[in-house]
Amino acid sequence: MKLQEFQAKRIFGQFGIPVPLGEVAETPAEARAIAERLGGTVVIKSQVLVGGRGKAGGIKLAKSPDEAEQVAGRILGMDIKGLTVKKVLVDPAADIRKELYLGMVLDRGSRRVVIMASSEGGVDIEEVAAQTPEKIITAAVDPCLGLREYQARDLALNIGLPKEQLGKFAAICQGLYECYMKCDASLAEINPLAILGDNRLVALDGKMVLDDSALFRHADLAAMRDEDEETSEEREARANDLSYVKLDGEIGCMVNGAGLAMATMDIIKYYGGSPANFLDVGGGAKAEKVAAALRIILSDPNVKAVLLNIFGGITRCDEVARGILQALKQVPTQTPMVVRLVGTNYEEGRAILAEAKMETAETLAGAAQKAVAAARAQGRIA
Ligand code: GDP
Ligand code: MN
Repeated sequence: MKLQEFQAKRIFGQFGIPVPLGEVAETPAEARAIAERLGGTVVIKSQVLVGGRGKAGGIKLAKSPDEAEQVAGRILGMDIKGLTVKKVLVDPAADIRKELYLGMVLDRGSRRVVIMASSEGGVDIEEVAAQTPEKIITAAVDPCLGLREYQARDLALNIGLPKEQLGKFAAICQGLYECYMKCDASLAEINPLAILGDNRLVALDGKMVLDDSALFRHADLAAMRDEDEETSEEREARANDLSYVKLDGEIGCMVNGAGLAMATMDIIKYYGGSPANFLDVGGGAKAEKVAAALRIILSDPNVKAVLLNIFGGITRCDEVARGILQALKQVPTQTPMVVRLVGTNYEEGRAILAEAKMETAETLAGAAQKAVAAARAQGRIA
């Protein structure tokens, strides 16, 4: 789950990282009132969950409350990379002397949190990584020891920070690392971390991605979820406790169990097709859940055939069969479906499907071939 800039910066502030003391507005009048309270020049920043807002025209300075109201009026409602701006952050404008980059991510290869710092902040860090990788300095944190002071100071020296900034930079690194760990984040990033005219170091932008699997430990963070962050399919999947990942193939997959779902996708590929999604309905999937899964799969216009592969262990095949028929009543479709049911109550399940004239298959290989053939008949696969 991604956090908005204002949320990330608020959390950074709780961990001792200096951040601008701005507020969020949803109307131009609110932006004006905040600008009045702050006094002086303010920066109006669109709050959308994409990077590069600056370049897209979603970040503007305003010299007076009047101007703040006008600028906020222009930015609110703006479309930035397909997202509509509903909130703006009104921050006191910063007198930026230099823009640095500081970020941390989990590096699965080294199984450690890796800290990245660069003197080339403000701009797209992916571009820096591609063009001048030597300008990104990294340090891996030992999970038992935590971030050591010398590591933070090393980073500061290697990105060319002057001596008087070392202590401040190291404290921000520690704060960000503590924040990352306490929030169960998978990414925490400050870009730019700015050196101001008066030599202060301030986090002007903030980005955080939280580990969804750990959100149950953070009710306060989970409550920050932005409704625009997910597609409607992802939202419905989460509401129904389904593991769903959208892909760009043409064969929709509904499977119980993550391993079986992966194997199903592999076998679709093997027979010349391409999966439209990963979807694990989990164990004990009842009719309602299966119906939700089918709704999600069928809402994808790329889907030309659906393969349902269910191994009835805890999940009973007759339940699944009823779920499929129930879903098809809710979402009538011409999309061909192939069902492979094995395990508990499979005779009963297949009888239910046969009666409804649904295509079934005995084996996974057979089911995959039928699904690929059905999609091919729709002219989707060469
Ligand atoms: P992003 O484009 O979505 O990454 O948004 P940022 O918050 O990083 O802002 C982009 C750029 O706008 C920064 O790199 C700064 O150059 C500029 N900017 C942001 N806040 C201020 C500010 O308070 N004062 C000034 N002068 N520029 C700012
Ligand atoms: Mn930024």
